[in-house]
This record gives sequence, C-alpha cells and structure tokens, in this order.
Amino acid sequence: MISNKKSLEMIDIIADMFPNAQIELVHDNAFELTIAVLLSAQTTDNSVNKITKSLFKKYKTPQDYIDVDISELENDLRTIGLYRNKAKNIKKLCQSLLEKFDGKIPNTHKELESLAGVGRKTANVVMSVAFDEPSLAVDTHVERVSKRLGICRWKDNVRQVEDRLCKVIPKERWNKSHHQLIFFGRYHCLARKPKCDICPLLEMCREGQKRIKAEAK
Ligand code: SF4
Repeated sequence: MISNKKSLEMIDIIADMFPNAQIELVHDNAFELTIAVLLSAQTTDNSVNKITKSLFKKYKTPQDYIDVDISELENDLRTIGLYRNKAKNIKKLCQSLLEKFDGKIPNTHKELESLAGVGRKTANVVMSVAFDEPSLAVDTHVERVSKRLGICRWKDNVRQVEDRLCKVIPKERWNKSHHQLIFFGRYHCLARKPKCDICPLLEMCREGQKRIKAEAK
C-alpha cells in the first residue's frame, strides 16, 4: 500500500482530469435519488436513466408505489437486472417511509440503512448528493481504481476501502472525490481495458506498468 501523501497526489491528478464529475443518475429530489440508486445495483446508470424517465412520471410519491400491483411495478422495471427483488424492496421502502418517516427520505445513515434495499453505499450517496453531508460511497469503480493504484490493498473489503479513502482525502473533498473516482473508473481506468498507455498516473501505478509490459511481450 502506498503512502497517504502519494495517494493524495494521485487523487489530485484524477480531480484535475474530471473537475466537473457529478452524479449521472437523473433525479429531481431525495426520494427519486434513493429509488434511482437502489435501481442502479449491478446495472449501469444509463439503463436506470432510461427507465426512470417514465417511472418518475408515473410514480411521484411513496403512496404511488404502494398502491400499484407488484406485477405492474415489476413490468415497469423489467429491463434492468434483479428487477423482481428491486420492485419488492421499493414497495417495502415506501411502506417504511410512510410508517416511520412521514413519507420523507431520512437524513441519517442509520435511518437510511434501516430501509429495504438501502445498504451503506446507497446511504452514502444519498447523504452526499441529497443532503450535502460528507460521505464517500465506494462502488465497483471506486474500489477497482483504489486497488489498482495501490491506495488500498487488493484484499481490502468495501468498508476498508472507504475507511482508507476517508483517511487519505480531506473531509471537505469526500463528496466531489467520490464522483471523480467514479468518472475515472468509468471513462479512463475501465474494468476490462484501462487506458494505461495515455494515463497520467502510469509512472505511479504498478498495475498499469504491469499491463503495459504484458502487452509489449
Ligand atoms: Fe488505471 Fe492503467 Fe492508469 Fe493504472 S495506469 S490508473 S491501471 S489506467
């Protein structure tokens, strides 16, 4: 694992590459954001945006999701992965919102994580994007990039990756860094074909150097 100083230097380079990175899930409020993040598990943001365009016109409140038959909701979600499970969780989540939170998305980690289908990652995204509270959600891109760069160890679990990043990155930058790391992983350090040959981090990145050497053989 590399030092905090070197890790932050890398994060700074990534920040310069994607200064305007922001959430790509289209939403108008905390409720829509929560639904969109829940739907995005193991699915691309693009696929989610395609269905939420009509979904958010049809369902505007938690009560709207509760009133609809589960089979109709499943049908509305059928183009994305795990849609049956997601439909079930959305209904449960909406029920809890009405019973415990006056129909509103709560603004603490603990309360958010008490909702069906909402884990630590989703809670972190909602806290950061909807409530502007410092949080650093670790998704598949953030995890892969942090490990390739040596900021974290390959064996670290998601929580360890989050803790390490929160140690390395100043708190006031957590929210922005989350999006910048996602953009870096989504558009540059891609899972299958990272752009190592044009990467400004290549000199500092052991994984990239290994890949370049392997390609040259
Ligand atoms: Fe990713 Fe390659 Fe850049 Fe390393 S050198 S950060 S593996 S794109």
